[in-house]
Amino acid sequence: MTNDAAVEALITAGRILEHVGQGDMIRGHVSVRVPGNDAHFLMKPHLVGFDEITQGNALTIDLDGKVVAGHARRHGEVFIHSEIYRARPDVRAVVHTHPTHLVALSATGKPMRPHCQGGAVFAGALPTYDDTINLIRTRELGAAVARALGPHRAVLLKSHGVAVAGTTLEEAVVLSVMLEEAARVQLLVEAAGGAAPEFPPEDIAPLRQFLLSPEQCAINFAYLARKVMGTPMPAALANPGAERAG
Ligand SMILES: [Zn+2]
Repeated sequence: MTNDAAVEALITAGRILEHVGQGDMIRGHVSVRVPGNDAHFLMKPHLVGFDEITQGNALTIDLDGKVVAGHARRHGEVFIHSEIYRARPDVRAVVHTHPTHLVALSATGKPMRPHCQGGAVFAGALPTYDDTINLIRTRELGAAVARALGPHRAVLLKSHGVAVAGTTLEEAVVLSVMLEEAARVQLLVEAAGGAAPEFPPEDIAPLRQFLLSPEQCAINFAYLARKVMGTPMPAALANPGAERAG
């Protein structure tokens, strides 16, 4: 993948996150490692919204949080990204947002439960960083968030937001959407008086594995991308029988 193609994917990711309501004015951010260079990542700049990333304003940043290419102002919380990349070589993309229901769930101190599909993905796998409500504006704070994340795919920042770490940009975006929906369902379940007995772990495990498969993440990202970018459905999806018939 070229650098331009990676920025194009970042633009699409931003549009999706804005579309699902995670824009929160200009405070959400998304980044992805530079293709072929694990020491650098591409990131949305500070002064624009999720839906305003361009080839011209995307920043290239190193693992110390320093801008190495681009002219826009970077996010003060860049260290959430740089320190997760430093700690986790398997992570290729990071999303940090302040989604309403995840912030509310984080404030309760209650763990994520498997009340829906997204809940099944994250139950028992969603730690919380609770050292401070303040912004993560230093390398030390970023490193503490990365430690709280551990080997998982996401970490709540108590009364602040969430950081999602994906092995692909598609995964990071799709899991961000799924996670906020899971928090919304959980708060509804709790407001309605609490849950009936949960499904056993052996029933939940295959669903979790299915939803985390790269293929499912790619299919869901592609659908959301068509929706926000206004791109037409590929012919193979619109009329899957046509090729065989022809
Ligand atoms: Zn934040």
